[in-house]
Amino acid sequence: MSVKNLMRENIVSLDPYRCARDEFEGSAEVYLDANESWRKYIDFPGEINRYPDPRSSAVRKALEEVLGLPYDSTIVGNGSDEIIDLLFRIFCNPGKDSVLLLGPTYGAYKVFASINDIKVNMIPLDEDFLPDVEAVKSAIDRFSPKLLFICTPNNPTGNAVPLETIRSIASYNSAITVVDEAYGDFSREQSAASLVLENERVVLMRTLSKAWGLAGARVGIAMCSSEIHDAMYNVKYPYNLGLPSQLEALKALANAESVRAGVEYTIKERERLARLLERSSKVVKVYPSDANFLLVKVVDANEIYLGLQKKGVIVRNRSRELNCENCLRITVGSVEEDDRLLAALEEL
Ligand SMILES: *Cc1c(COP(=O)(O)O)cnc(C)c1O
Repeated sequence: MSVKNLMRENIVSLDPYRCARDEFEGSAEVYLDANESWRKYIDFPGEINRYPDPRSSAVRKALEEVLGLPYDSTIVGNGSDEIIDLLFRIFCNPGKDSVLLLGPTYGAYKVFASINDIKVNMIPLDEDFLPDVEAVKSAIDRFSPKLLFICTPNNPTGNAVPLETIRSIASYNSAITVVDEAYGDFSREQSAASLVLENERVVLMRTLSKAWGLAGARVGIAMCSSEIHDAMYNVKYPYNLGLPSQLEALKALANAESVRAGVEYTIKERERLARLLERSSKVVKVYPSDANFLLVKVVDANEIYLGLQKKGVIVRNRSRELNCENCLRITVGSVEEDDRLLAALEEL
């Protein structure tokens, strides 16, 4: 069965918009095809008066070189947010189809599904916040979701899901399995990139927002098989990523060594922070993390959240998420920032 059979009919039969930069891809001396201004009025290290590359080709070449994601399989989105929204718009008929989530997990899946009028079914992760494979399989049978999201390392719990678990779920699932590796750079677990090559129904998501320090530039990445790739290209806004963001992404990817050193620093600091938090009388449990944050069970999440806020330290209160009573999600900062957090916690 082709993955096209899983897509919305109107997307499969879409006659896509083709912009000027799609129609002529070579290089020329005089461009009079896109109604752009012939000159720029601001100082900018690039042709900001021209429309940007709709394919983000240079960024994708760098992604292949630096992250090993094959050029032909990648799509660059305006953050992972755009990728998630595209998947709903490509695969899910509003008012009819559903998606399956393993909770607690990233809140955006549910909100974007609801915006698209797509039903959300959520089943709980087990007590170690890992997928219960048998429960996931029976939920797939029961709900027939168009998309199943697996976030690894998972937000807000921080733990990674073993690749073998994802493989067995994805091969059972006859619809699309989306693996969100937003925090993959921090994880010891193997990437699911290899799964995309063996299973055309697997979509991998990465982002430059976390480890790569570019949250402000909005650069999300999908790796997928060719029919999904074509659909994403046809459905996304033609010029979805601005030139400044493409240039900043190139700069960050050219600087991979510093980023890797930064990731090492964060991992070391995460372990230090976890050890010190465990000593605090207000902390009940620090969950194991493969990401750049810690899920921390405290004696009273609301009170501690507000107390820290008064002292100028903002963490995320996740106590209303499934199986996260009295849990705060704390991003690993610099040593100095984390010391501020620890001092504020002791003063409470
Ligand atoms: C932060 C995060 C993202 C990244 O979103 P962007 O739109 O790329 O900034 C994606 N997925 C999860 C689970 C996240 O926590």
